[in-house]
Amino acid sequence: MMTNEDTMRWLGRVAEVLHENRDYLTQLDSAIGDADHGINMDRGFSSVRDKFPAMAATDIAAQMRTVGSTLVSTVGGASGPLYGTAFLRAGGAAANKAELEPADVVAMLEAFLGGIVARGKAQPGEKTMVDALTPALAAAKQALAENASLAEITARAAAAAEEGVKATIPMLATKGRASYLGERSIGHQDPGATSSWLMLRSLAEVCAKM
Ligand code: ADP
Ligand code: MG
Repeated sequence: MMTNEDTMRWLGRVAEVLHENRDYLTQLDSAIGDADHGINMDRGFSSVRDKFPAMAATDIAAQMRTVGSTLVSTVGGASGPLYGTAFLRAGGAAANKAELEPADVVAMLEAFLGGIVARGKAQPGEKTMVDALTPALAAAKQALAENASLAEITARAAAAAEEGVKATIPMLATKGRASYLGERSIGHQDPGATSSWLMLRSLAEVCAKM
């Protein structure tokens, strides 16, 4: 079970990890984009962090919607509307739930990925965040079907996302800014897939301690 305090712990960890990885994400984006992904994500989540005091008292669905709308309004790049839509959809999947069962967390992950696909129209293999989230969702569903604990479900999702990030290196980018590089996008790790993995790794960390 995940409570609205656990979800705040997760969001707090995400803000911390994205801040710590600001330069790393920006460096990845300098190879195949415009060198702002870390800056974008850190700006977005530091604005989210400013809302933590108000968010702590609200339910999980409202927390997710606040993250989504804050990212949409504060992140300039492609990642703002993509992650914004993802969090808004995750909030929809958590509607009226005081606590999250493992199946609810997996449903939120599915809605999160669904939001990114609805907004960005990327399919697996196009070198985007979808390439971290798709294997993560598959691993989470598999673990859920095996009646695994939330700690194990999220750990397996994070591990699959990490593999998905590595798999973006040889991919040719066909969506977003990196696609402008054509063949020159090959050989570089996708920044958005990397930030998606970091969010899932943070979730696994929090669930391991619950
Ligand atoms: P921008 O590209 O506007 O500078 P960011 O640098 O913040 O925005 O984010 C870049 C990341 O966004 C990419 O690494 C990629 O993972 C992701 N991205 C771009 N376009 C799409 C899309 N259509 N669908 C999914 N993810 C995308
Ligand atoms: Mg960029």
